[in-house]
Amino acid sequence: MGMLKDPSVKYKKFKQLNLPDRQWPSKTLDQPPRWLSTDLRDGNQSLVDPMDGDQKWRYFQMLVELGYKEIEVSFPSASKTDFDFTRKLVETPGVVPDDVWLQVLAPCRKELIKPTVDSVAGSKKAIIHLYLATSPCFQQVVFNMNNEESIKRAVECTQYARSLTKDDPTQSATEWAFEFSPETFSDSDPDFVLEICEAVKAAWEPSVENPIIFNLPATVEMSTPNVYADQIEYFCRHITEREKICVSLHPHNDRGCAVAAAELAQMAGADRVEGTLFGNGERTGNVDLVTLALNLYTQGIHPGIDFSDIRSVIDIVEKSNKIPIHPRAPYGGQLVVCAFSGSHQDAIKKGFQARKASGATDDSPWQIPYLPLDPQDIGRTYEAIIRVNSQSGKGGVAWILLRNLELDLPRGLQVAFSKIVQKEADSVGRELLPGEIVQLFEESYHLKRNPRFELLDYDITTERAASPAPPSVGGSQVSRTQSSKNARRVFGGVIEIDGVEHRIRGVGNGAISSLANALRTLGIDLDVADYKEHAIGEGKSVKAATYIECTASNSSQRVWGVGIHEDVVQASLIALLSAASSVSHISLAYSRFPYTEINNQPLLSSSLLVQALLSLSALSVLTRTTSLHQNLLQRGMCHSQVPMLEDMSVSLRPWK
Ligand SMILES: [Zn+2]
Repeated sequence: MGMLKDPSVKYKKFKQLNLPDRQWPSKTLDQPPRWLSTDLRDGNQSLVDPMDGDQKWRYFQMLVELGYKEIEVSFPSASKTDFDFTRKLVETPGVVPDDVWLQVLAPCRKELIKPTVDSVAGSKKAIIHLYLATSPCFQQVVFNMNNEESIKRAVECTQYARSLTKDDPTQSATEWAFEFSPETFSDSDPDFVLEICEAVKAAWEPSVENPIIFNLPATVEMSTPNVYADQIEYFCRHITEREKICVSLHPHNDRGCAVAAAELAQMAGADRVEGTLFGNGERTGNVDLVTLALNLYTQGIHPGIDFSDIRSVIDIVEKSNKIPIHPRAPYGGQLVVCAFSGSHQDAIKKGFQARKASGATDDSPWQIPYLPLDPQDIGRTYEAIIRVNSQSGKGGVAWILLRNLELDLPRGLQVAFSKIVQKEADSVGRELLPGEIVQLFEESYHLKRNPRFELLDYDITTERAASPAPPSVGGSQVSRTQSSKNARRVFGGVIEIDGVEHRIRGVGNGAISSLANALRTLGIDLDVADYKEHAIGEGKSVKAATYIECTASNSSQRVWGVGIHEDVVQASLIALLSAASSVSHISLAYSRFPYTEINNQPLLSSSLLVQALLSLSALSVLTRTTSLHQNLLQRGMCHSQVPMLEDMSVSLRPWK
């Protein structure tokens, strides 16, 4: 048959309450409601395979640990399992804390009220919850009762429940409360609901200290949430002795708006919400208590429920209900703190970096793009936030390396490496795990082992270049009190290239330029195009990470090198050799001379390479690395080998 061309012939528009002076739209939620978990009753009733006693027991303990003070535990008159479970809770010492109410449900039928009361007799606090149909559909179609008969039944049952509980001296050890649900409230005549609730209230005689609970269910959600809010406001405004009443909500989720309905209805005056964790329940379920609680939390209001370890909550809920939490369920879903798309990843990564740079602590104001909640607050880790597949961009890859290796890659390297990652993700045809990305990075930039270039031994000394230094002075230390304006660095050391050791020497205005010039004596001609360095870690274990982008002379190939070392100078030398290893066409002509003579030929100061190195390293010192150097210097890790700092005294020259 399919969908009708004109659905209005079959489905009538929900008739809205006329409440033009409604107040709730300008109200706000400023405190948590009283929560009632009905996981073990409404939720359990709806399961294909209901929980066994052990599962209910463990679930109850979890609810108590989370902080629920009102828990509907059973429908004792309907099943012996439920009755026995309730008795076990009451009779086992220490299981039900003194401030936790056990709630039990029964229909308005005298013969079923007695066993319901019996199930909780002897408990510290108990709520007897009775329900009766008030909607015309249920009254007539299901129960064949009119309004007068319904009121009579409700009053008789309330009086009977009262006689068995708070009026019975033998039951005085228990604090008794009473809840009445007009079923289905949202589909009932609002004035008739008021009439029957007034009669029930008169029969129970509540107090301000122990108010009667009027639970107003949207047993089936049939309207937009604003209509439910109107109905709740209408009830709250017209019921008498409002201070002796707790107005409770019980929204179901047939239209997918249960959370919104519960929130708007609280604005409309409700005091209490009944629901289940992750919204289990008949059909589309009850309102989700996790979402409601964490929605409050992210508005700065503690819900009074502790979801610090949401993963163990999910574990128990999934095992007990035998229904998985949807991967995109708010807050709890496996994928909700993950980002796959490149632009989201990039924004999240930048957000976290800005947060770190601002010196934020765990409770500093939260402002991260795409993440309304700090995942750590609910026991989820940052590691899982960004996932990398072939759709991901540089931001995600950079995030993984930042989290796992504490490497803050320069943008150019992010772009270069993300191409390597995408190629790998395409070739394996799936998401790459963080460990795989880390390994790919270490291999691509030779962090574990450089297959071609290895720095075996080196020494960097200072020479004065203002006046040509006599050979006997070359290589001696320059006193710190002397101006370093014209000081130049001399690299002398042994480098293994493709298994052959070379002793080389070069002079430059900084450590990198002196090594680059030393390599030039072997015919390896590299120009530095980009440079960045930063500290890794804190305290005594601080290391330097250095990134150098090089172009090989007479080539358009651009390669990145990465160096990590306790010594900042050595890190930069390793980075240059890492880059050199990745240049594909470097000639091996020099290998004819296994032990190269130390070349004293001074480098032309006007060479482009020197200019580039000068300006880049000076720039990087000024803009990015001052704190690193200070950090390293404070710890005595740089000694006299701080050519980067020396380079600061060289005038800045524009590069490109
Ligand atoms: Zn329900």
